[in-house]
Amino acid sequence: MSEIIFDFTGNPFVDAGIYAISQWAGKKPGELNKDDMFKSAEDLVEIYITKSWSKVLYSIFPNNPIINPSVKGKEKKKIAYSSFINELINKSEYLGDSGDCIACGRRNIKYIETNGGKGSSRFAKDKIPLSGSKSMVNYFSFGVDGADYCPACAFAVQFSPLVTYSCVSMLLMHSNSNKLMKHWSKKAINNVRGQLLSNNYTGCFDEGFKNPKNAVFHIIQNIILKQEERWHNETPSINFYYFTNYIQGPNLTIYSIPATVFRFLAYIPQHEKFGDWLRIVKRGYRYVNWEKVKEESEYKNRENMVYNNLLENKSIIGFFIDRKNKEAIGGWDLMSHYLEEVIKMDKKRIETIKNVADELATYIKTEEDLKTLNKLEMASNYKNYRNLLRIIIKKRIKSGADGPLFTFDEYITYLFPEGYLSYKETQDLILFRIYEVLHDWIIQQGISEELINQEAEEVEENV
Ligand SMILES: [Zn+2]
Repeated sequence: MSEIIFDFTGNPFVDAGIYAISQWAGKKPGELNKDDMFKSAEDLVEIYITKSWSKVLYSIFPNNPIINPSVKGKEKKKIAYSSFINELINKSEYLGDSGDCIACGRRNIKYIETNGGKGSSRFAKDKIPLSGSKSMVNYFSFGVDGADYCPACAFAVQFSPLVTYSCVSMLLMHSNSNKLMKHWSKKAINNVRGQLLSNNYTGCFDEGFKNPKNAVFHIIQNIILKQEERWHNETPSINFYYFTNYIQGPNLTIYSIPATVFRFLAYIPQHEKFGDWLRIVKRGYRYVNWEKVKEESEYKNRENMVYNNLLENKSIIGFFIDRKNKEAIGGWDLMSHYLEEVIKMDKKRIETIKNVADELATYIKTEEDLKTLNKLEMASNYKNYRNLLRIIIKKRIKSGADGPLFTFDEYITYLFPEGYLSYKETQDLILFRIYEVLHDWIIQQGISEELINQEAEEVEENV
């Protein structure tokens, strides 16, 4: 039999707790023993008894002995919670091959005398978040009176608040990537240690975020930027559990970061156009008057369409295009990486769009035909866009072009593979590339007032 108490379970609260203990004890999860558990538990009770942390418990472990009004006085509260935790430690076993715990599945549940008034082998929301209250048996499968967690898993859950992020409600990161869990728990635990050292307790890690989606990206960027890891080799699944466990109105929203999006975000900081990416993200914020903004706190909680779209698997191509200044932000290399990695666009299609856009750029410049550029920008439906390309093909032939703008096969298979459904994407990408190739030249020509006026300001519409 192994002598391991903690290993990855797949249960977000248990795993978060395991990594919190591991950081607290300065050991790998698999190395933790009962001594580490007792020592960490002592510190945990001291932290939870403080004013700010006991407040946190209302939304994570309501009716926990520390905040339960029936337990009077600080010392009694400490004793009540400590005896519960210590009983969990004493009854924790090494991981086996099987068991009926719904988190690890490798240990059995056990009767815990200090669990509720009469003791119980099952847990409710005062000990395990979002597990319901025992009186509502219909909340649980088979009408049992609580959730089946073994003592070791229930113990780990007690530590999960230490790595939970405060964002009005609580935000808990969970990933199958050891690296991500390790780095994030380290950062959160450092924050708690800071509170301990300065004797200034403030509760869960809080950086002033009130918008959970923006917080999710902030956390990920933070891990990616601060840690020197080869993230591009990782394909983690990452979920953020945004929850409250109040007695009245518990709630849960799950934000999943696609592995493709994570890999893309991890790749960007090494790209020479990283600065441009930051501009693209900034363009995603809605209703911000950038001329008046002095610091990040003024916009960081505003809705960000780049983040929202990445979370919802929607395109962010439109945010790369600055139509007003005729600029391709990030350039083709970053854009094609996004298309390939996140949108999973066919390589041949990306190449074809680029080639056609290059030919169009050459034509516009040679013929000094800004009007055609304007039409390529303004065409508002598939039919008009196709007609426009047909006209340009004729004009090119007239002016003695060597080859066709594109072959019939390229047209059907790569430019408009889904007909009108994909024309807007193609139109935007062609425009993006033309801006990149011709930007300086267009500026030299002077963007006429008329062109600027026709410019559609709403970036969202371009997406
Ligand atoms: Zn378990």
